[in-house]
Parts: sequence; structure tokens; C-alpha cells
Amino acid sequence: MDPVTRLVHAGQDIDRAYRSITPPIYQTSTFRFEDVGATSGYEYTRLGNPTRHALEALLAELEGGAGAVAAASGMAAISIALAVFEAGAHLLCTRDCYGGTYRLLHHLQRQGKLEVTFLDLTDANAREQAVKPTTRAVWVETPSNPLLRVTDLAELTAFAHARGLIVIADNTFLSPLLQRPMDFGVDLVVHSTTKYLNGHADVVGGAVVARTEELHRAIQFAAKAGGAVQAPFDAWLVLRGMKTLHLRMAAHEANARAVAEFLARHPQVEHVHYPGLESHPGHALARRQQRGFGGMVSFTVRGGLAEARKVLQRARVFALAESLGGVESLIGHPATMSHAAMPPEYRQAAGIDDHLLRLSVGIEAKEDLIADLEQALA
Ligand SMILES: *Cc1c(COP(=O)(O)O)cnc(C)c1O
Repeated sequence: MDPVTRLVHAGQDIDRAYRSITPPIYQTSTFRFEDVGATSGYEYTRLGNPTRHALEALLAELEGGAGAVAAASGMAAISIALAVFEAGAHLLCTRDCYGGTYRLLHHLQRQGKLEVTFLDLTDANAREQAVKPTTRAVWVETPSNPLLRVTDLAELTAFAHARGLIVIADNTFLSPLLQRPMDFGVDLVVHSTTKYLNGHADVVGGAVVARTEELHRAIQFAAKAGGAVQAPFDAWLVLRGMKTLHLRMAAHEANARAVAEFLARHPQVEHVHYPGLESHPGHALARRQQRGFGGMVSFTVRGGLAEARKVLQRARVFALAESLGGVESLIGHPATMSHAAMPPEYRQAAGIDDHLLRLSVGIEAKEDLIADLEQALA
């Protein structure tokens, strides 16, 4: 079936008692055993819950994986994925990754639990030189946050698999509708479902999808042992949000393109990052690898931080707020918000300038979004 049909149906026909169209919310911590050692399939909600399982089945199907675990947040999902490594494992990580991912990896490195090399993963030479005998995995975000850099997933997985490394991709920016990393051999996909998948800015959630049964068992164990799983009601909200994912993504993308084109023509704007623009260095690759360009746009303003700050203060329809992927348009300042965990010199090396602004373009009328940016830039 087409992914659009799956979004509405997959995994969700779970009510054997009354055949409800939407999956029931099993708001229970525990389940009665049928006999000593015999269960209905569920024992305790941390280990498994039918509502959460409906979401997990849907996510696994959409990403093309063997199984999925829905977590309490995107960072909980990332923690679960990292828990599969032995102490001392070395990871390669994309340099302009999500600030929270950087914070966690950096923290685990300081504690001596993992070793991480942050690098430009598109640089084949740097990549090759960074691999050590203890290297176990490559962590990639494409398009990256906040610079929307595009990495060739097929090439990266060929490089990693030839060296016995697994590849983990954060697919939050595009969702499985616009990109399926497992089609290129990626082993684990993580999501912050807080963003496009739920789409309504009313849940914090995450997921890890595993390509193989073996990895799925390791992920399930890490989730059960660590316990950072998603609550049934939140899982239900994400399921509800996902039914309209294709409609929302189409609206986000149409608006993002219009906004990016407007910004690219504006005299106060220095540089626009949007893979859908032909001038973007990753445009051709994005066209091959993705089924769309998504709804995230970042740009720098002439005049540096002082002028960028004015845009943040004047924007009205674009709310100055953290997060992305909801129906409402948001504007953010990566240096002091999503990427504040990175030290200034690191941010600079990664190309995240202090006057870079990030837009999560919502589904409002594009004329209103452009008019808002026009007055904010005036
Ligand atoms: C928001 C985000 C996360 C973290 O997710 P939370 O749900 O906030 O914990 C991870 N990766 C990316 C790309 C994100 O945008």
C-alpha cells in the first residue's frame, strides 16, 4: 500500500472487543495474567502497551524496518539508540547535528562512556582518517540542523558497512514520507515525533526504528531496561497527528519554498539555506535521495546579530519559540536556542553563525507568512 494509505490504517486496527476505527487508549500501567506465566501478550506498560504498539507498528512499516520503539522524547529515543553500544565505543557524528544530540554525546564522552569525533561527514578524507579500531557507528542528520546540509546516505552506508560500522540517521526533519534512510542501508532511524510526525505542538515524543530483528531486540531491551518509553495517551496523540502527515508536509513544503524564494530575493538577506533552491549545494542530491525538500529554512541577515535580533523581535505570525514541525510557523535563533549547548568556537567551525535564523514554516496562508517576514526585515 501507498505510505499515505498506511498513515491512516497501518497498525491501528487493534480493538478486538468493539472494532473501534481509532485505536483505544489503553491507559493502564498493568494487565491481568491469564494464568501463572500466561499473559494476554501484555504484562506491564513499560514493557509493552497496545496503544504504543500501534504507533510502533506504523512507524516500523513507514520506515521499512523490522520494528520500532516509541520513546518519551526525541532525546529519550537517542539515549535508547546509544545504549546499544559497549563502554568505550567510538562514534563519528555529523558536525552540525541537533544541539541536544551534541550535548548528550559530549556529556557521555566527558564521562568516559563513549568516544565521539564530530566531523563533516561529507568529507571522505576526514571520515576515513577518523575511523579507529574501536569505531562502531556513524551518526548522521540529513538534511542537517540548522544548515540543511545534505549527506549522501548510500555513499555513507557503503563506507560504514565496509568497515563493520552501523549507521544511525536522525530523520526528524523530513519524516518517512519524504525520506526513507533504510532504503539506502541505514541501520537505525531515530525521530523526535514532537516535530512533523505529531505535527500539532502538543506532545513531546520520539522513536527508534531498527532495520534488522537483531537490532530491534537490542533497542527493545534498552527501552525496557532504561524505561524511557512513551505514555499511551501521548502515543495516541502522535497516531492521530500522523493521519494527516501527507497533507501537512505538502503544505509545509509549498510554504517553505515560497518563503525561501522570497528571502533569496530580499536585499536584507545575506544567505538562504533551503535544499529546494537550485542554488543550494545539496539540491541535486536532495532531489535523488528525498521525496521532497521539507519545511525548514534557515538564513542570515545583513548587519549581523543586531539586525537578526530585530527580525526575531518583530516577527508576529512566526512565533519566537523552540521546536519545529508543528502547524504554526516558528522562528528561532540557533546560537542561543536549539544549539546553545555548542561552545561558540565549535558553532563557528560548524558554520552556525550568530546571525543565522531558523524558520519552521507552518501551514498558514503563504501570503501572511511572507508579509510577516517582509515587515520584520524592513
Ligand atoms: C527536536 C529534535 C530532537 C530532540 O527531540 P525532543 O523530542 O525535543 O527530545 C532530536 N533531533 C532533532 C533533529 C530534533 O529536531
